[in-house]
This record gives sequence, structure tokens and C-alpha cells, in this order.
Amino acid sequence: MKLPFFLARRFVAGKTFDETIPKIKDLNDKGIKVTLDLLGENVKKKTTADDTVEIYRQLLQEIHNAGLKSTISIKLTMLGMDIDEEYCKNNVFKLLDLAKELNSFVRIDMEGSDYTQRTIDIFKDAFEKYGKHVGIVLQAYLHRTKEDIEELTDLEADIRLCKGAYKEPKLIALQDMADIREAFKNYSKVLLEKTDFPRIATHDEELVDFVKNYTDKNNINKDRFEFQMLYGLRQETMENLTKNGFNARIYVPFGTMWFPYFKRRLMERKENIFFVLKTLLKK
Ligand SMILES: Cc1cc2nc3c(=O)[nH]c(=O)nc-3n(C[C@H](O)[C@H](O)[C@H](O)COP(=O)(O)OP(=O)(O)OC[C@H]3O[C@@H](n4cnc5c(N)ncnc54)[C@H](O)[C@@H]3O)c2cc1C
Repeated sequence: MKLPFFLARRFVAGKTFDETIPKIKDLNDKGIKVTLDLLGENVKKKTTADDTVEIYRQLLQEIHNAGLKSTISIKLTMLGMDIDEEYCKNNVFKLLDLAKELNSFVRIDMEGSDYTQRTIDIFKDAFEKYGKHVGIVLQAYLHRTKEDIEELTDLEADIRLCKGAYKEPKLIALQDMADIREAFKNYSKVLLEKTDFPRIATHDEELVDFVKNYTDKNNINKDRFEFQMLYGLRQETMENLTKNGFNARIYVPFGTMWFPYFKRRLMERKENIFFVLKTLLKK
């Protein structure tokens, strides 16, 4: 069954880049930076992955031409990870060639645990070649993050920390929210201590407050890290954070392949389901 796009409008900024531009401008005007995500994942055909690289290259160029305060986020399964790892890496490099030329930045999102090692491997090769133009994501719920964070902070990588959005088994990931929060707090401390500019990606008040208090007590300047949240969630909180001198960036997804992303947002929080039901009833 194909769901209508209006249901996803709260979480997805538009179906096209043109539709999305005013929303990016509006956030930028409020002092909030953006990371733009073209929705899609698990591409099976090289022609689709090639098209995605082309669209992302155009995006980087258009962001630059329009002077938007936005970088991009990519998913490796959209660039051919399921087809061939070397091919996928070359696609990432094609994006990074342009990102470097434009002095921009590409964040590699983290997907399900089948992809973690391969994503880190490609990131490390990219980081060696392109340095500060590329970053990665670590998920606090994964047991392996304890080792990954050591390795990647030793490299001084640019890391976004999030809880983790995919359903993972007990053997691989923490299941209890209290444990995930504890891990998130510990990893935030590691990132703040060992990296130049950590990206703290959460809507969780307890974690946002933890980072604010920890940095305040340890004399870590507000300009040394950034809070990140998703489009459509807690924008007022983000506006208040910027008013109080914190860096804030919103992850803005757009595109026609919105369903898997939309489904993850619904699975994550019952309030999101209520919101969609309310939208449906209003129609
Ligand atoms: C910028 C960004 C990038 C991300 N990138 C990735 C990625 O690459 N890979 C990946 O696996 N996951 C990614 N995620 C998703 C992430 O892993 C979590 O699934 C998602 O953020 C939900 O966890 P949470 O900590 O935000 O809050 P939750 O665990 O959903 O909620 C915890 C508490 O926070 C409060 N809260 C949450 N949402 C709201 C709201 N809308 N309004 C008011 N209070 C609220 C409530 O008190 C709630 O009980 C990303 C998230 C963000 C913000």
C-alpha cells in the first residue's frame, strides 16, 4: 500500500530540493545550521546508485551557489554498499572530491549493524584522503561502540553521537533505555574530551541537560560542540539553544523515498504516531 506524502510532511521537508530550500533558509535565518539528507537506502542497481551520486553532487553545488548553511548526510547503502564495497567507496570519493573543492562536508550516517564495520572501513579510507571534509556516526546502543569510539577518537575523527535507530538483538546492542542513556552520557564525555567538535544528536532532555551541565562544569566552551536534532521534532528547543549561545544543526530529510525513514520515526515514539493519526483525522 502506498501512503500519501502529507502524512510524512511533519518529518520530511519536501519531495524535491526546490521544495526544501525555503525550509533550510528559514532554519538558517534562526541561526540553525542544516545537514541535508536525500532519502533512500538499500539500492540494488548501479544505475540508481550512479544517479544518487549525481544528485548529491548537484546538491552540494546548489547548496554552495545558494549560500545555504548546510552540509549533507549520506547512507552508504544508497551509494551501492549492497552491490560492491569498492564501488561504494569510489562513489563516496566522487562526492568528497566536490565537497573538498567547495570546502563543504559529508557526514556518513550509520545504518543497521550488518553495515557497521564496512561503514567504518570506508570512513577511515575517506578520512585519510579527505580529512575534515568527512565525518561519521556512532550509535550509543551498540556494544562495539566502546572500542570504535576509542579507535575513531584516536584518529580525531568528526563524530556524531546518537542512540541508534535500528532494531538490534541483545547480543549486539543495549535494549534498556536507562542503559542506553548511561552509555550516551559516557560517550559524550569521551567525545568532548578527545575530539575538537562533537555532534550530540538527541531530542532527549535528560541527555541535552547532561551535556549542558557537564560542559559548563568542565569549562568547555559552547562553541566547541553542537546539538543536532531531526526536522519536525523540538524545533523550539533548538531555537532556544541557539538563543542561549549553543550551536544547533537540524537534519533535514527530503525526497520521494521517505517511507523507511518515516517508519523509523513512528516506531521510535508513540507521540509521533498520534501526530500522524491527528493529521489523518483532520483531512
Ligand atoms: C541529527 C540526528 C541524526 C541521527 N542519525 C542517525 C544515524 O546516522 N543512525 C542511527 O541509527 N540513528 C540516527 N539518529 C536517530 C537516533 O539514533 C535515535 O533513534 C533518535 O534520535 C531517537 O532518540 P532520542 O535520543 O532523540 O530520543 P528518544 O529516545 O526517542 O526519546 C527520549 C525522550 O526524549 C524526549 N523526546 C524525544 N522526542 C521528543 C519530542 N519530539 N518532543 C519532546 N520530547 C521529546 C522524551 O522525553 C522522550 O521520552 C539520528 C538522530 C538525530 C537527532
